[in-house]
Amino acid sequence: MAKTIKYLPPPITAPRYSGIQTFMRLPNVRTTEDVDFAVLGAPYDCGASYKNGSRFGPQAIRTASTLMRNYSYDVDVNIFEYLSGVDYGDLDTFPGHTQESYDSITKGLQPIVDAGVIPITMGGDHSITLPELRAVAKKHGPVALVHFDSHLDTWDTYWGLKYAHGTPFRRACEEGLLDTAHSVQVGIRGSQYGPEDIQGSLDLGFQVITANKLHEMGWKECVKKINERVGTAKTFLTFDIDFVDPSMAPGTGTIEVGGFTGYESMMLVAGLKDLNFVAMDMVEVLPVIDQTGRTAYMAASLMHQMISLLALQRKNGKR
Ligand code: MN
Ligand code: MN
Repeated sequence: MAKTIKYLPPPITAPRYSGIQTFMRLPNVRTTEDVDFAVLGAPYDCGASYKNGSRFGPQAIRTASTLMRNYSYDVDVNIFEYLSGVDYGDLDTFPGHTQESYDSITKGLQPIVDAGVIPITMGGDHSITLPELRAVAKKHGPVALVHFDSHLDTWDTYWGLKYAHGTPFRRACEEGLLDTAHSVQVGIRGSQYGPEDIQGSLDLGFQVITANKLHEMGWKECVKKINERVGTAKTFLTFDIDFVDPSMAPGTGTIEVGGFTGYESMMLVAGLKDLNFVAMDMVEVLPVIDQTGRTAYMAASLMHQMISLLALQRKNGKR
């Protein structure tokens, strides 16, 4: 049964580019009351190992998202017939102060998670997923990770340091936040330090579907594999925009060629209709090198797809 639909984007009485630019023109309200999903920003980018600037990701995604409409063709659902959502604003982060920023992200996310609201967090670099997972696991216990990325992000250290955007999922495993037996990393490609990189993920218990394998099997088969792997586990969906090929998503700090189209990415997300999501995020959008804004628009579209999944699940009585 749908909750009271309290928040809707304003009807089209004015052009979508007008007004204050929140995600999908949702009201900017910091509440969890009668809310099903909350979009929020975690603009921390000091975990980036190469180009930085993803602290401006949330702002760019919000601007791009004003073009989004209520209905998803791919998922066949009108989001706001079934869900209420808010733009919760940004959590406090402190440039150059990783632990303090992590703590702030965990603390800021906790009331959302505890209220049973699904957070959809915009990075920031991928290091923000670790403090998100801390909040999520505190409520739900270890969760399955569905991880779209060209990188594993299970390296042990960068420059001898433990906390960076290439290490969050190793730290998450060490902290007992992940149910890796039901987790999968999808889209891995590019140069590695050695074959031991992928072995490192496998040793932690992840399934790894490399870009080569995904190109061979196609998105339909990959959707089946992800669903089989995850099953009914409580799931955190994390999407690093560098999963998408740099020809379509150039605005990110550590690009890898040989990626996936916007269409493939959208269909992969749309296929995850049966997963038991408890949290989602979208990371690594770097606006200053995003000529034309296409990367931010890709991110907004994928987030729209994620929210549509939640709406479909509510429509089907599964949420
Ligand atoms: Mn990543
Ligand atoms: Mn990546």
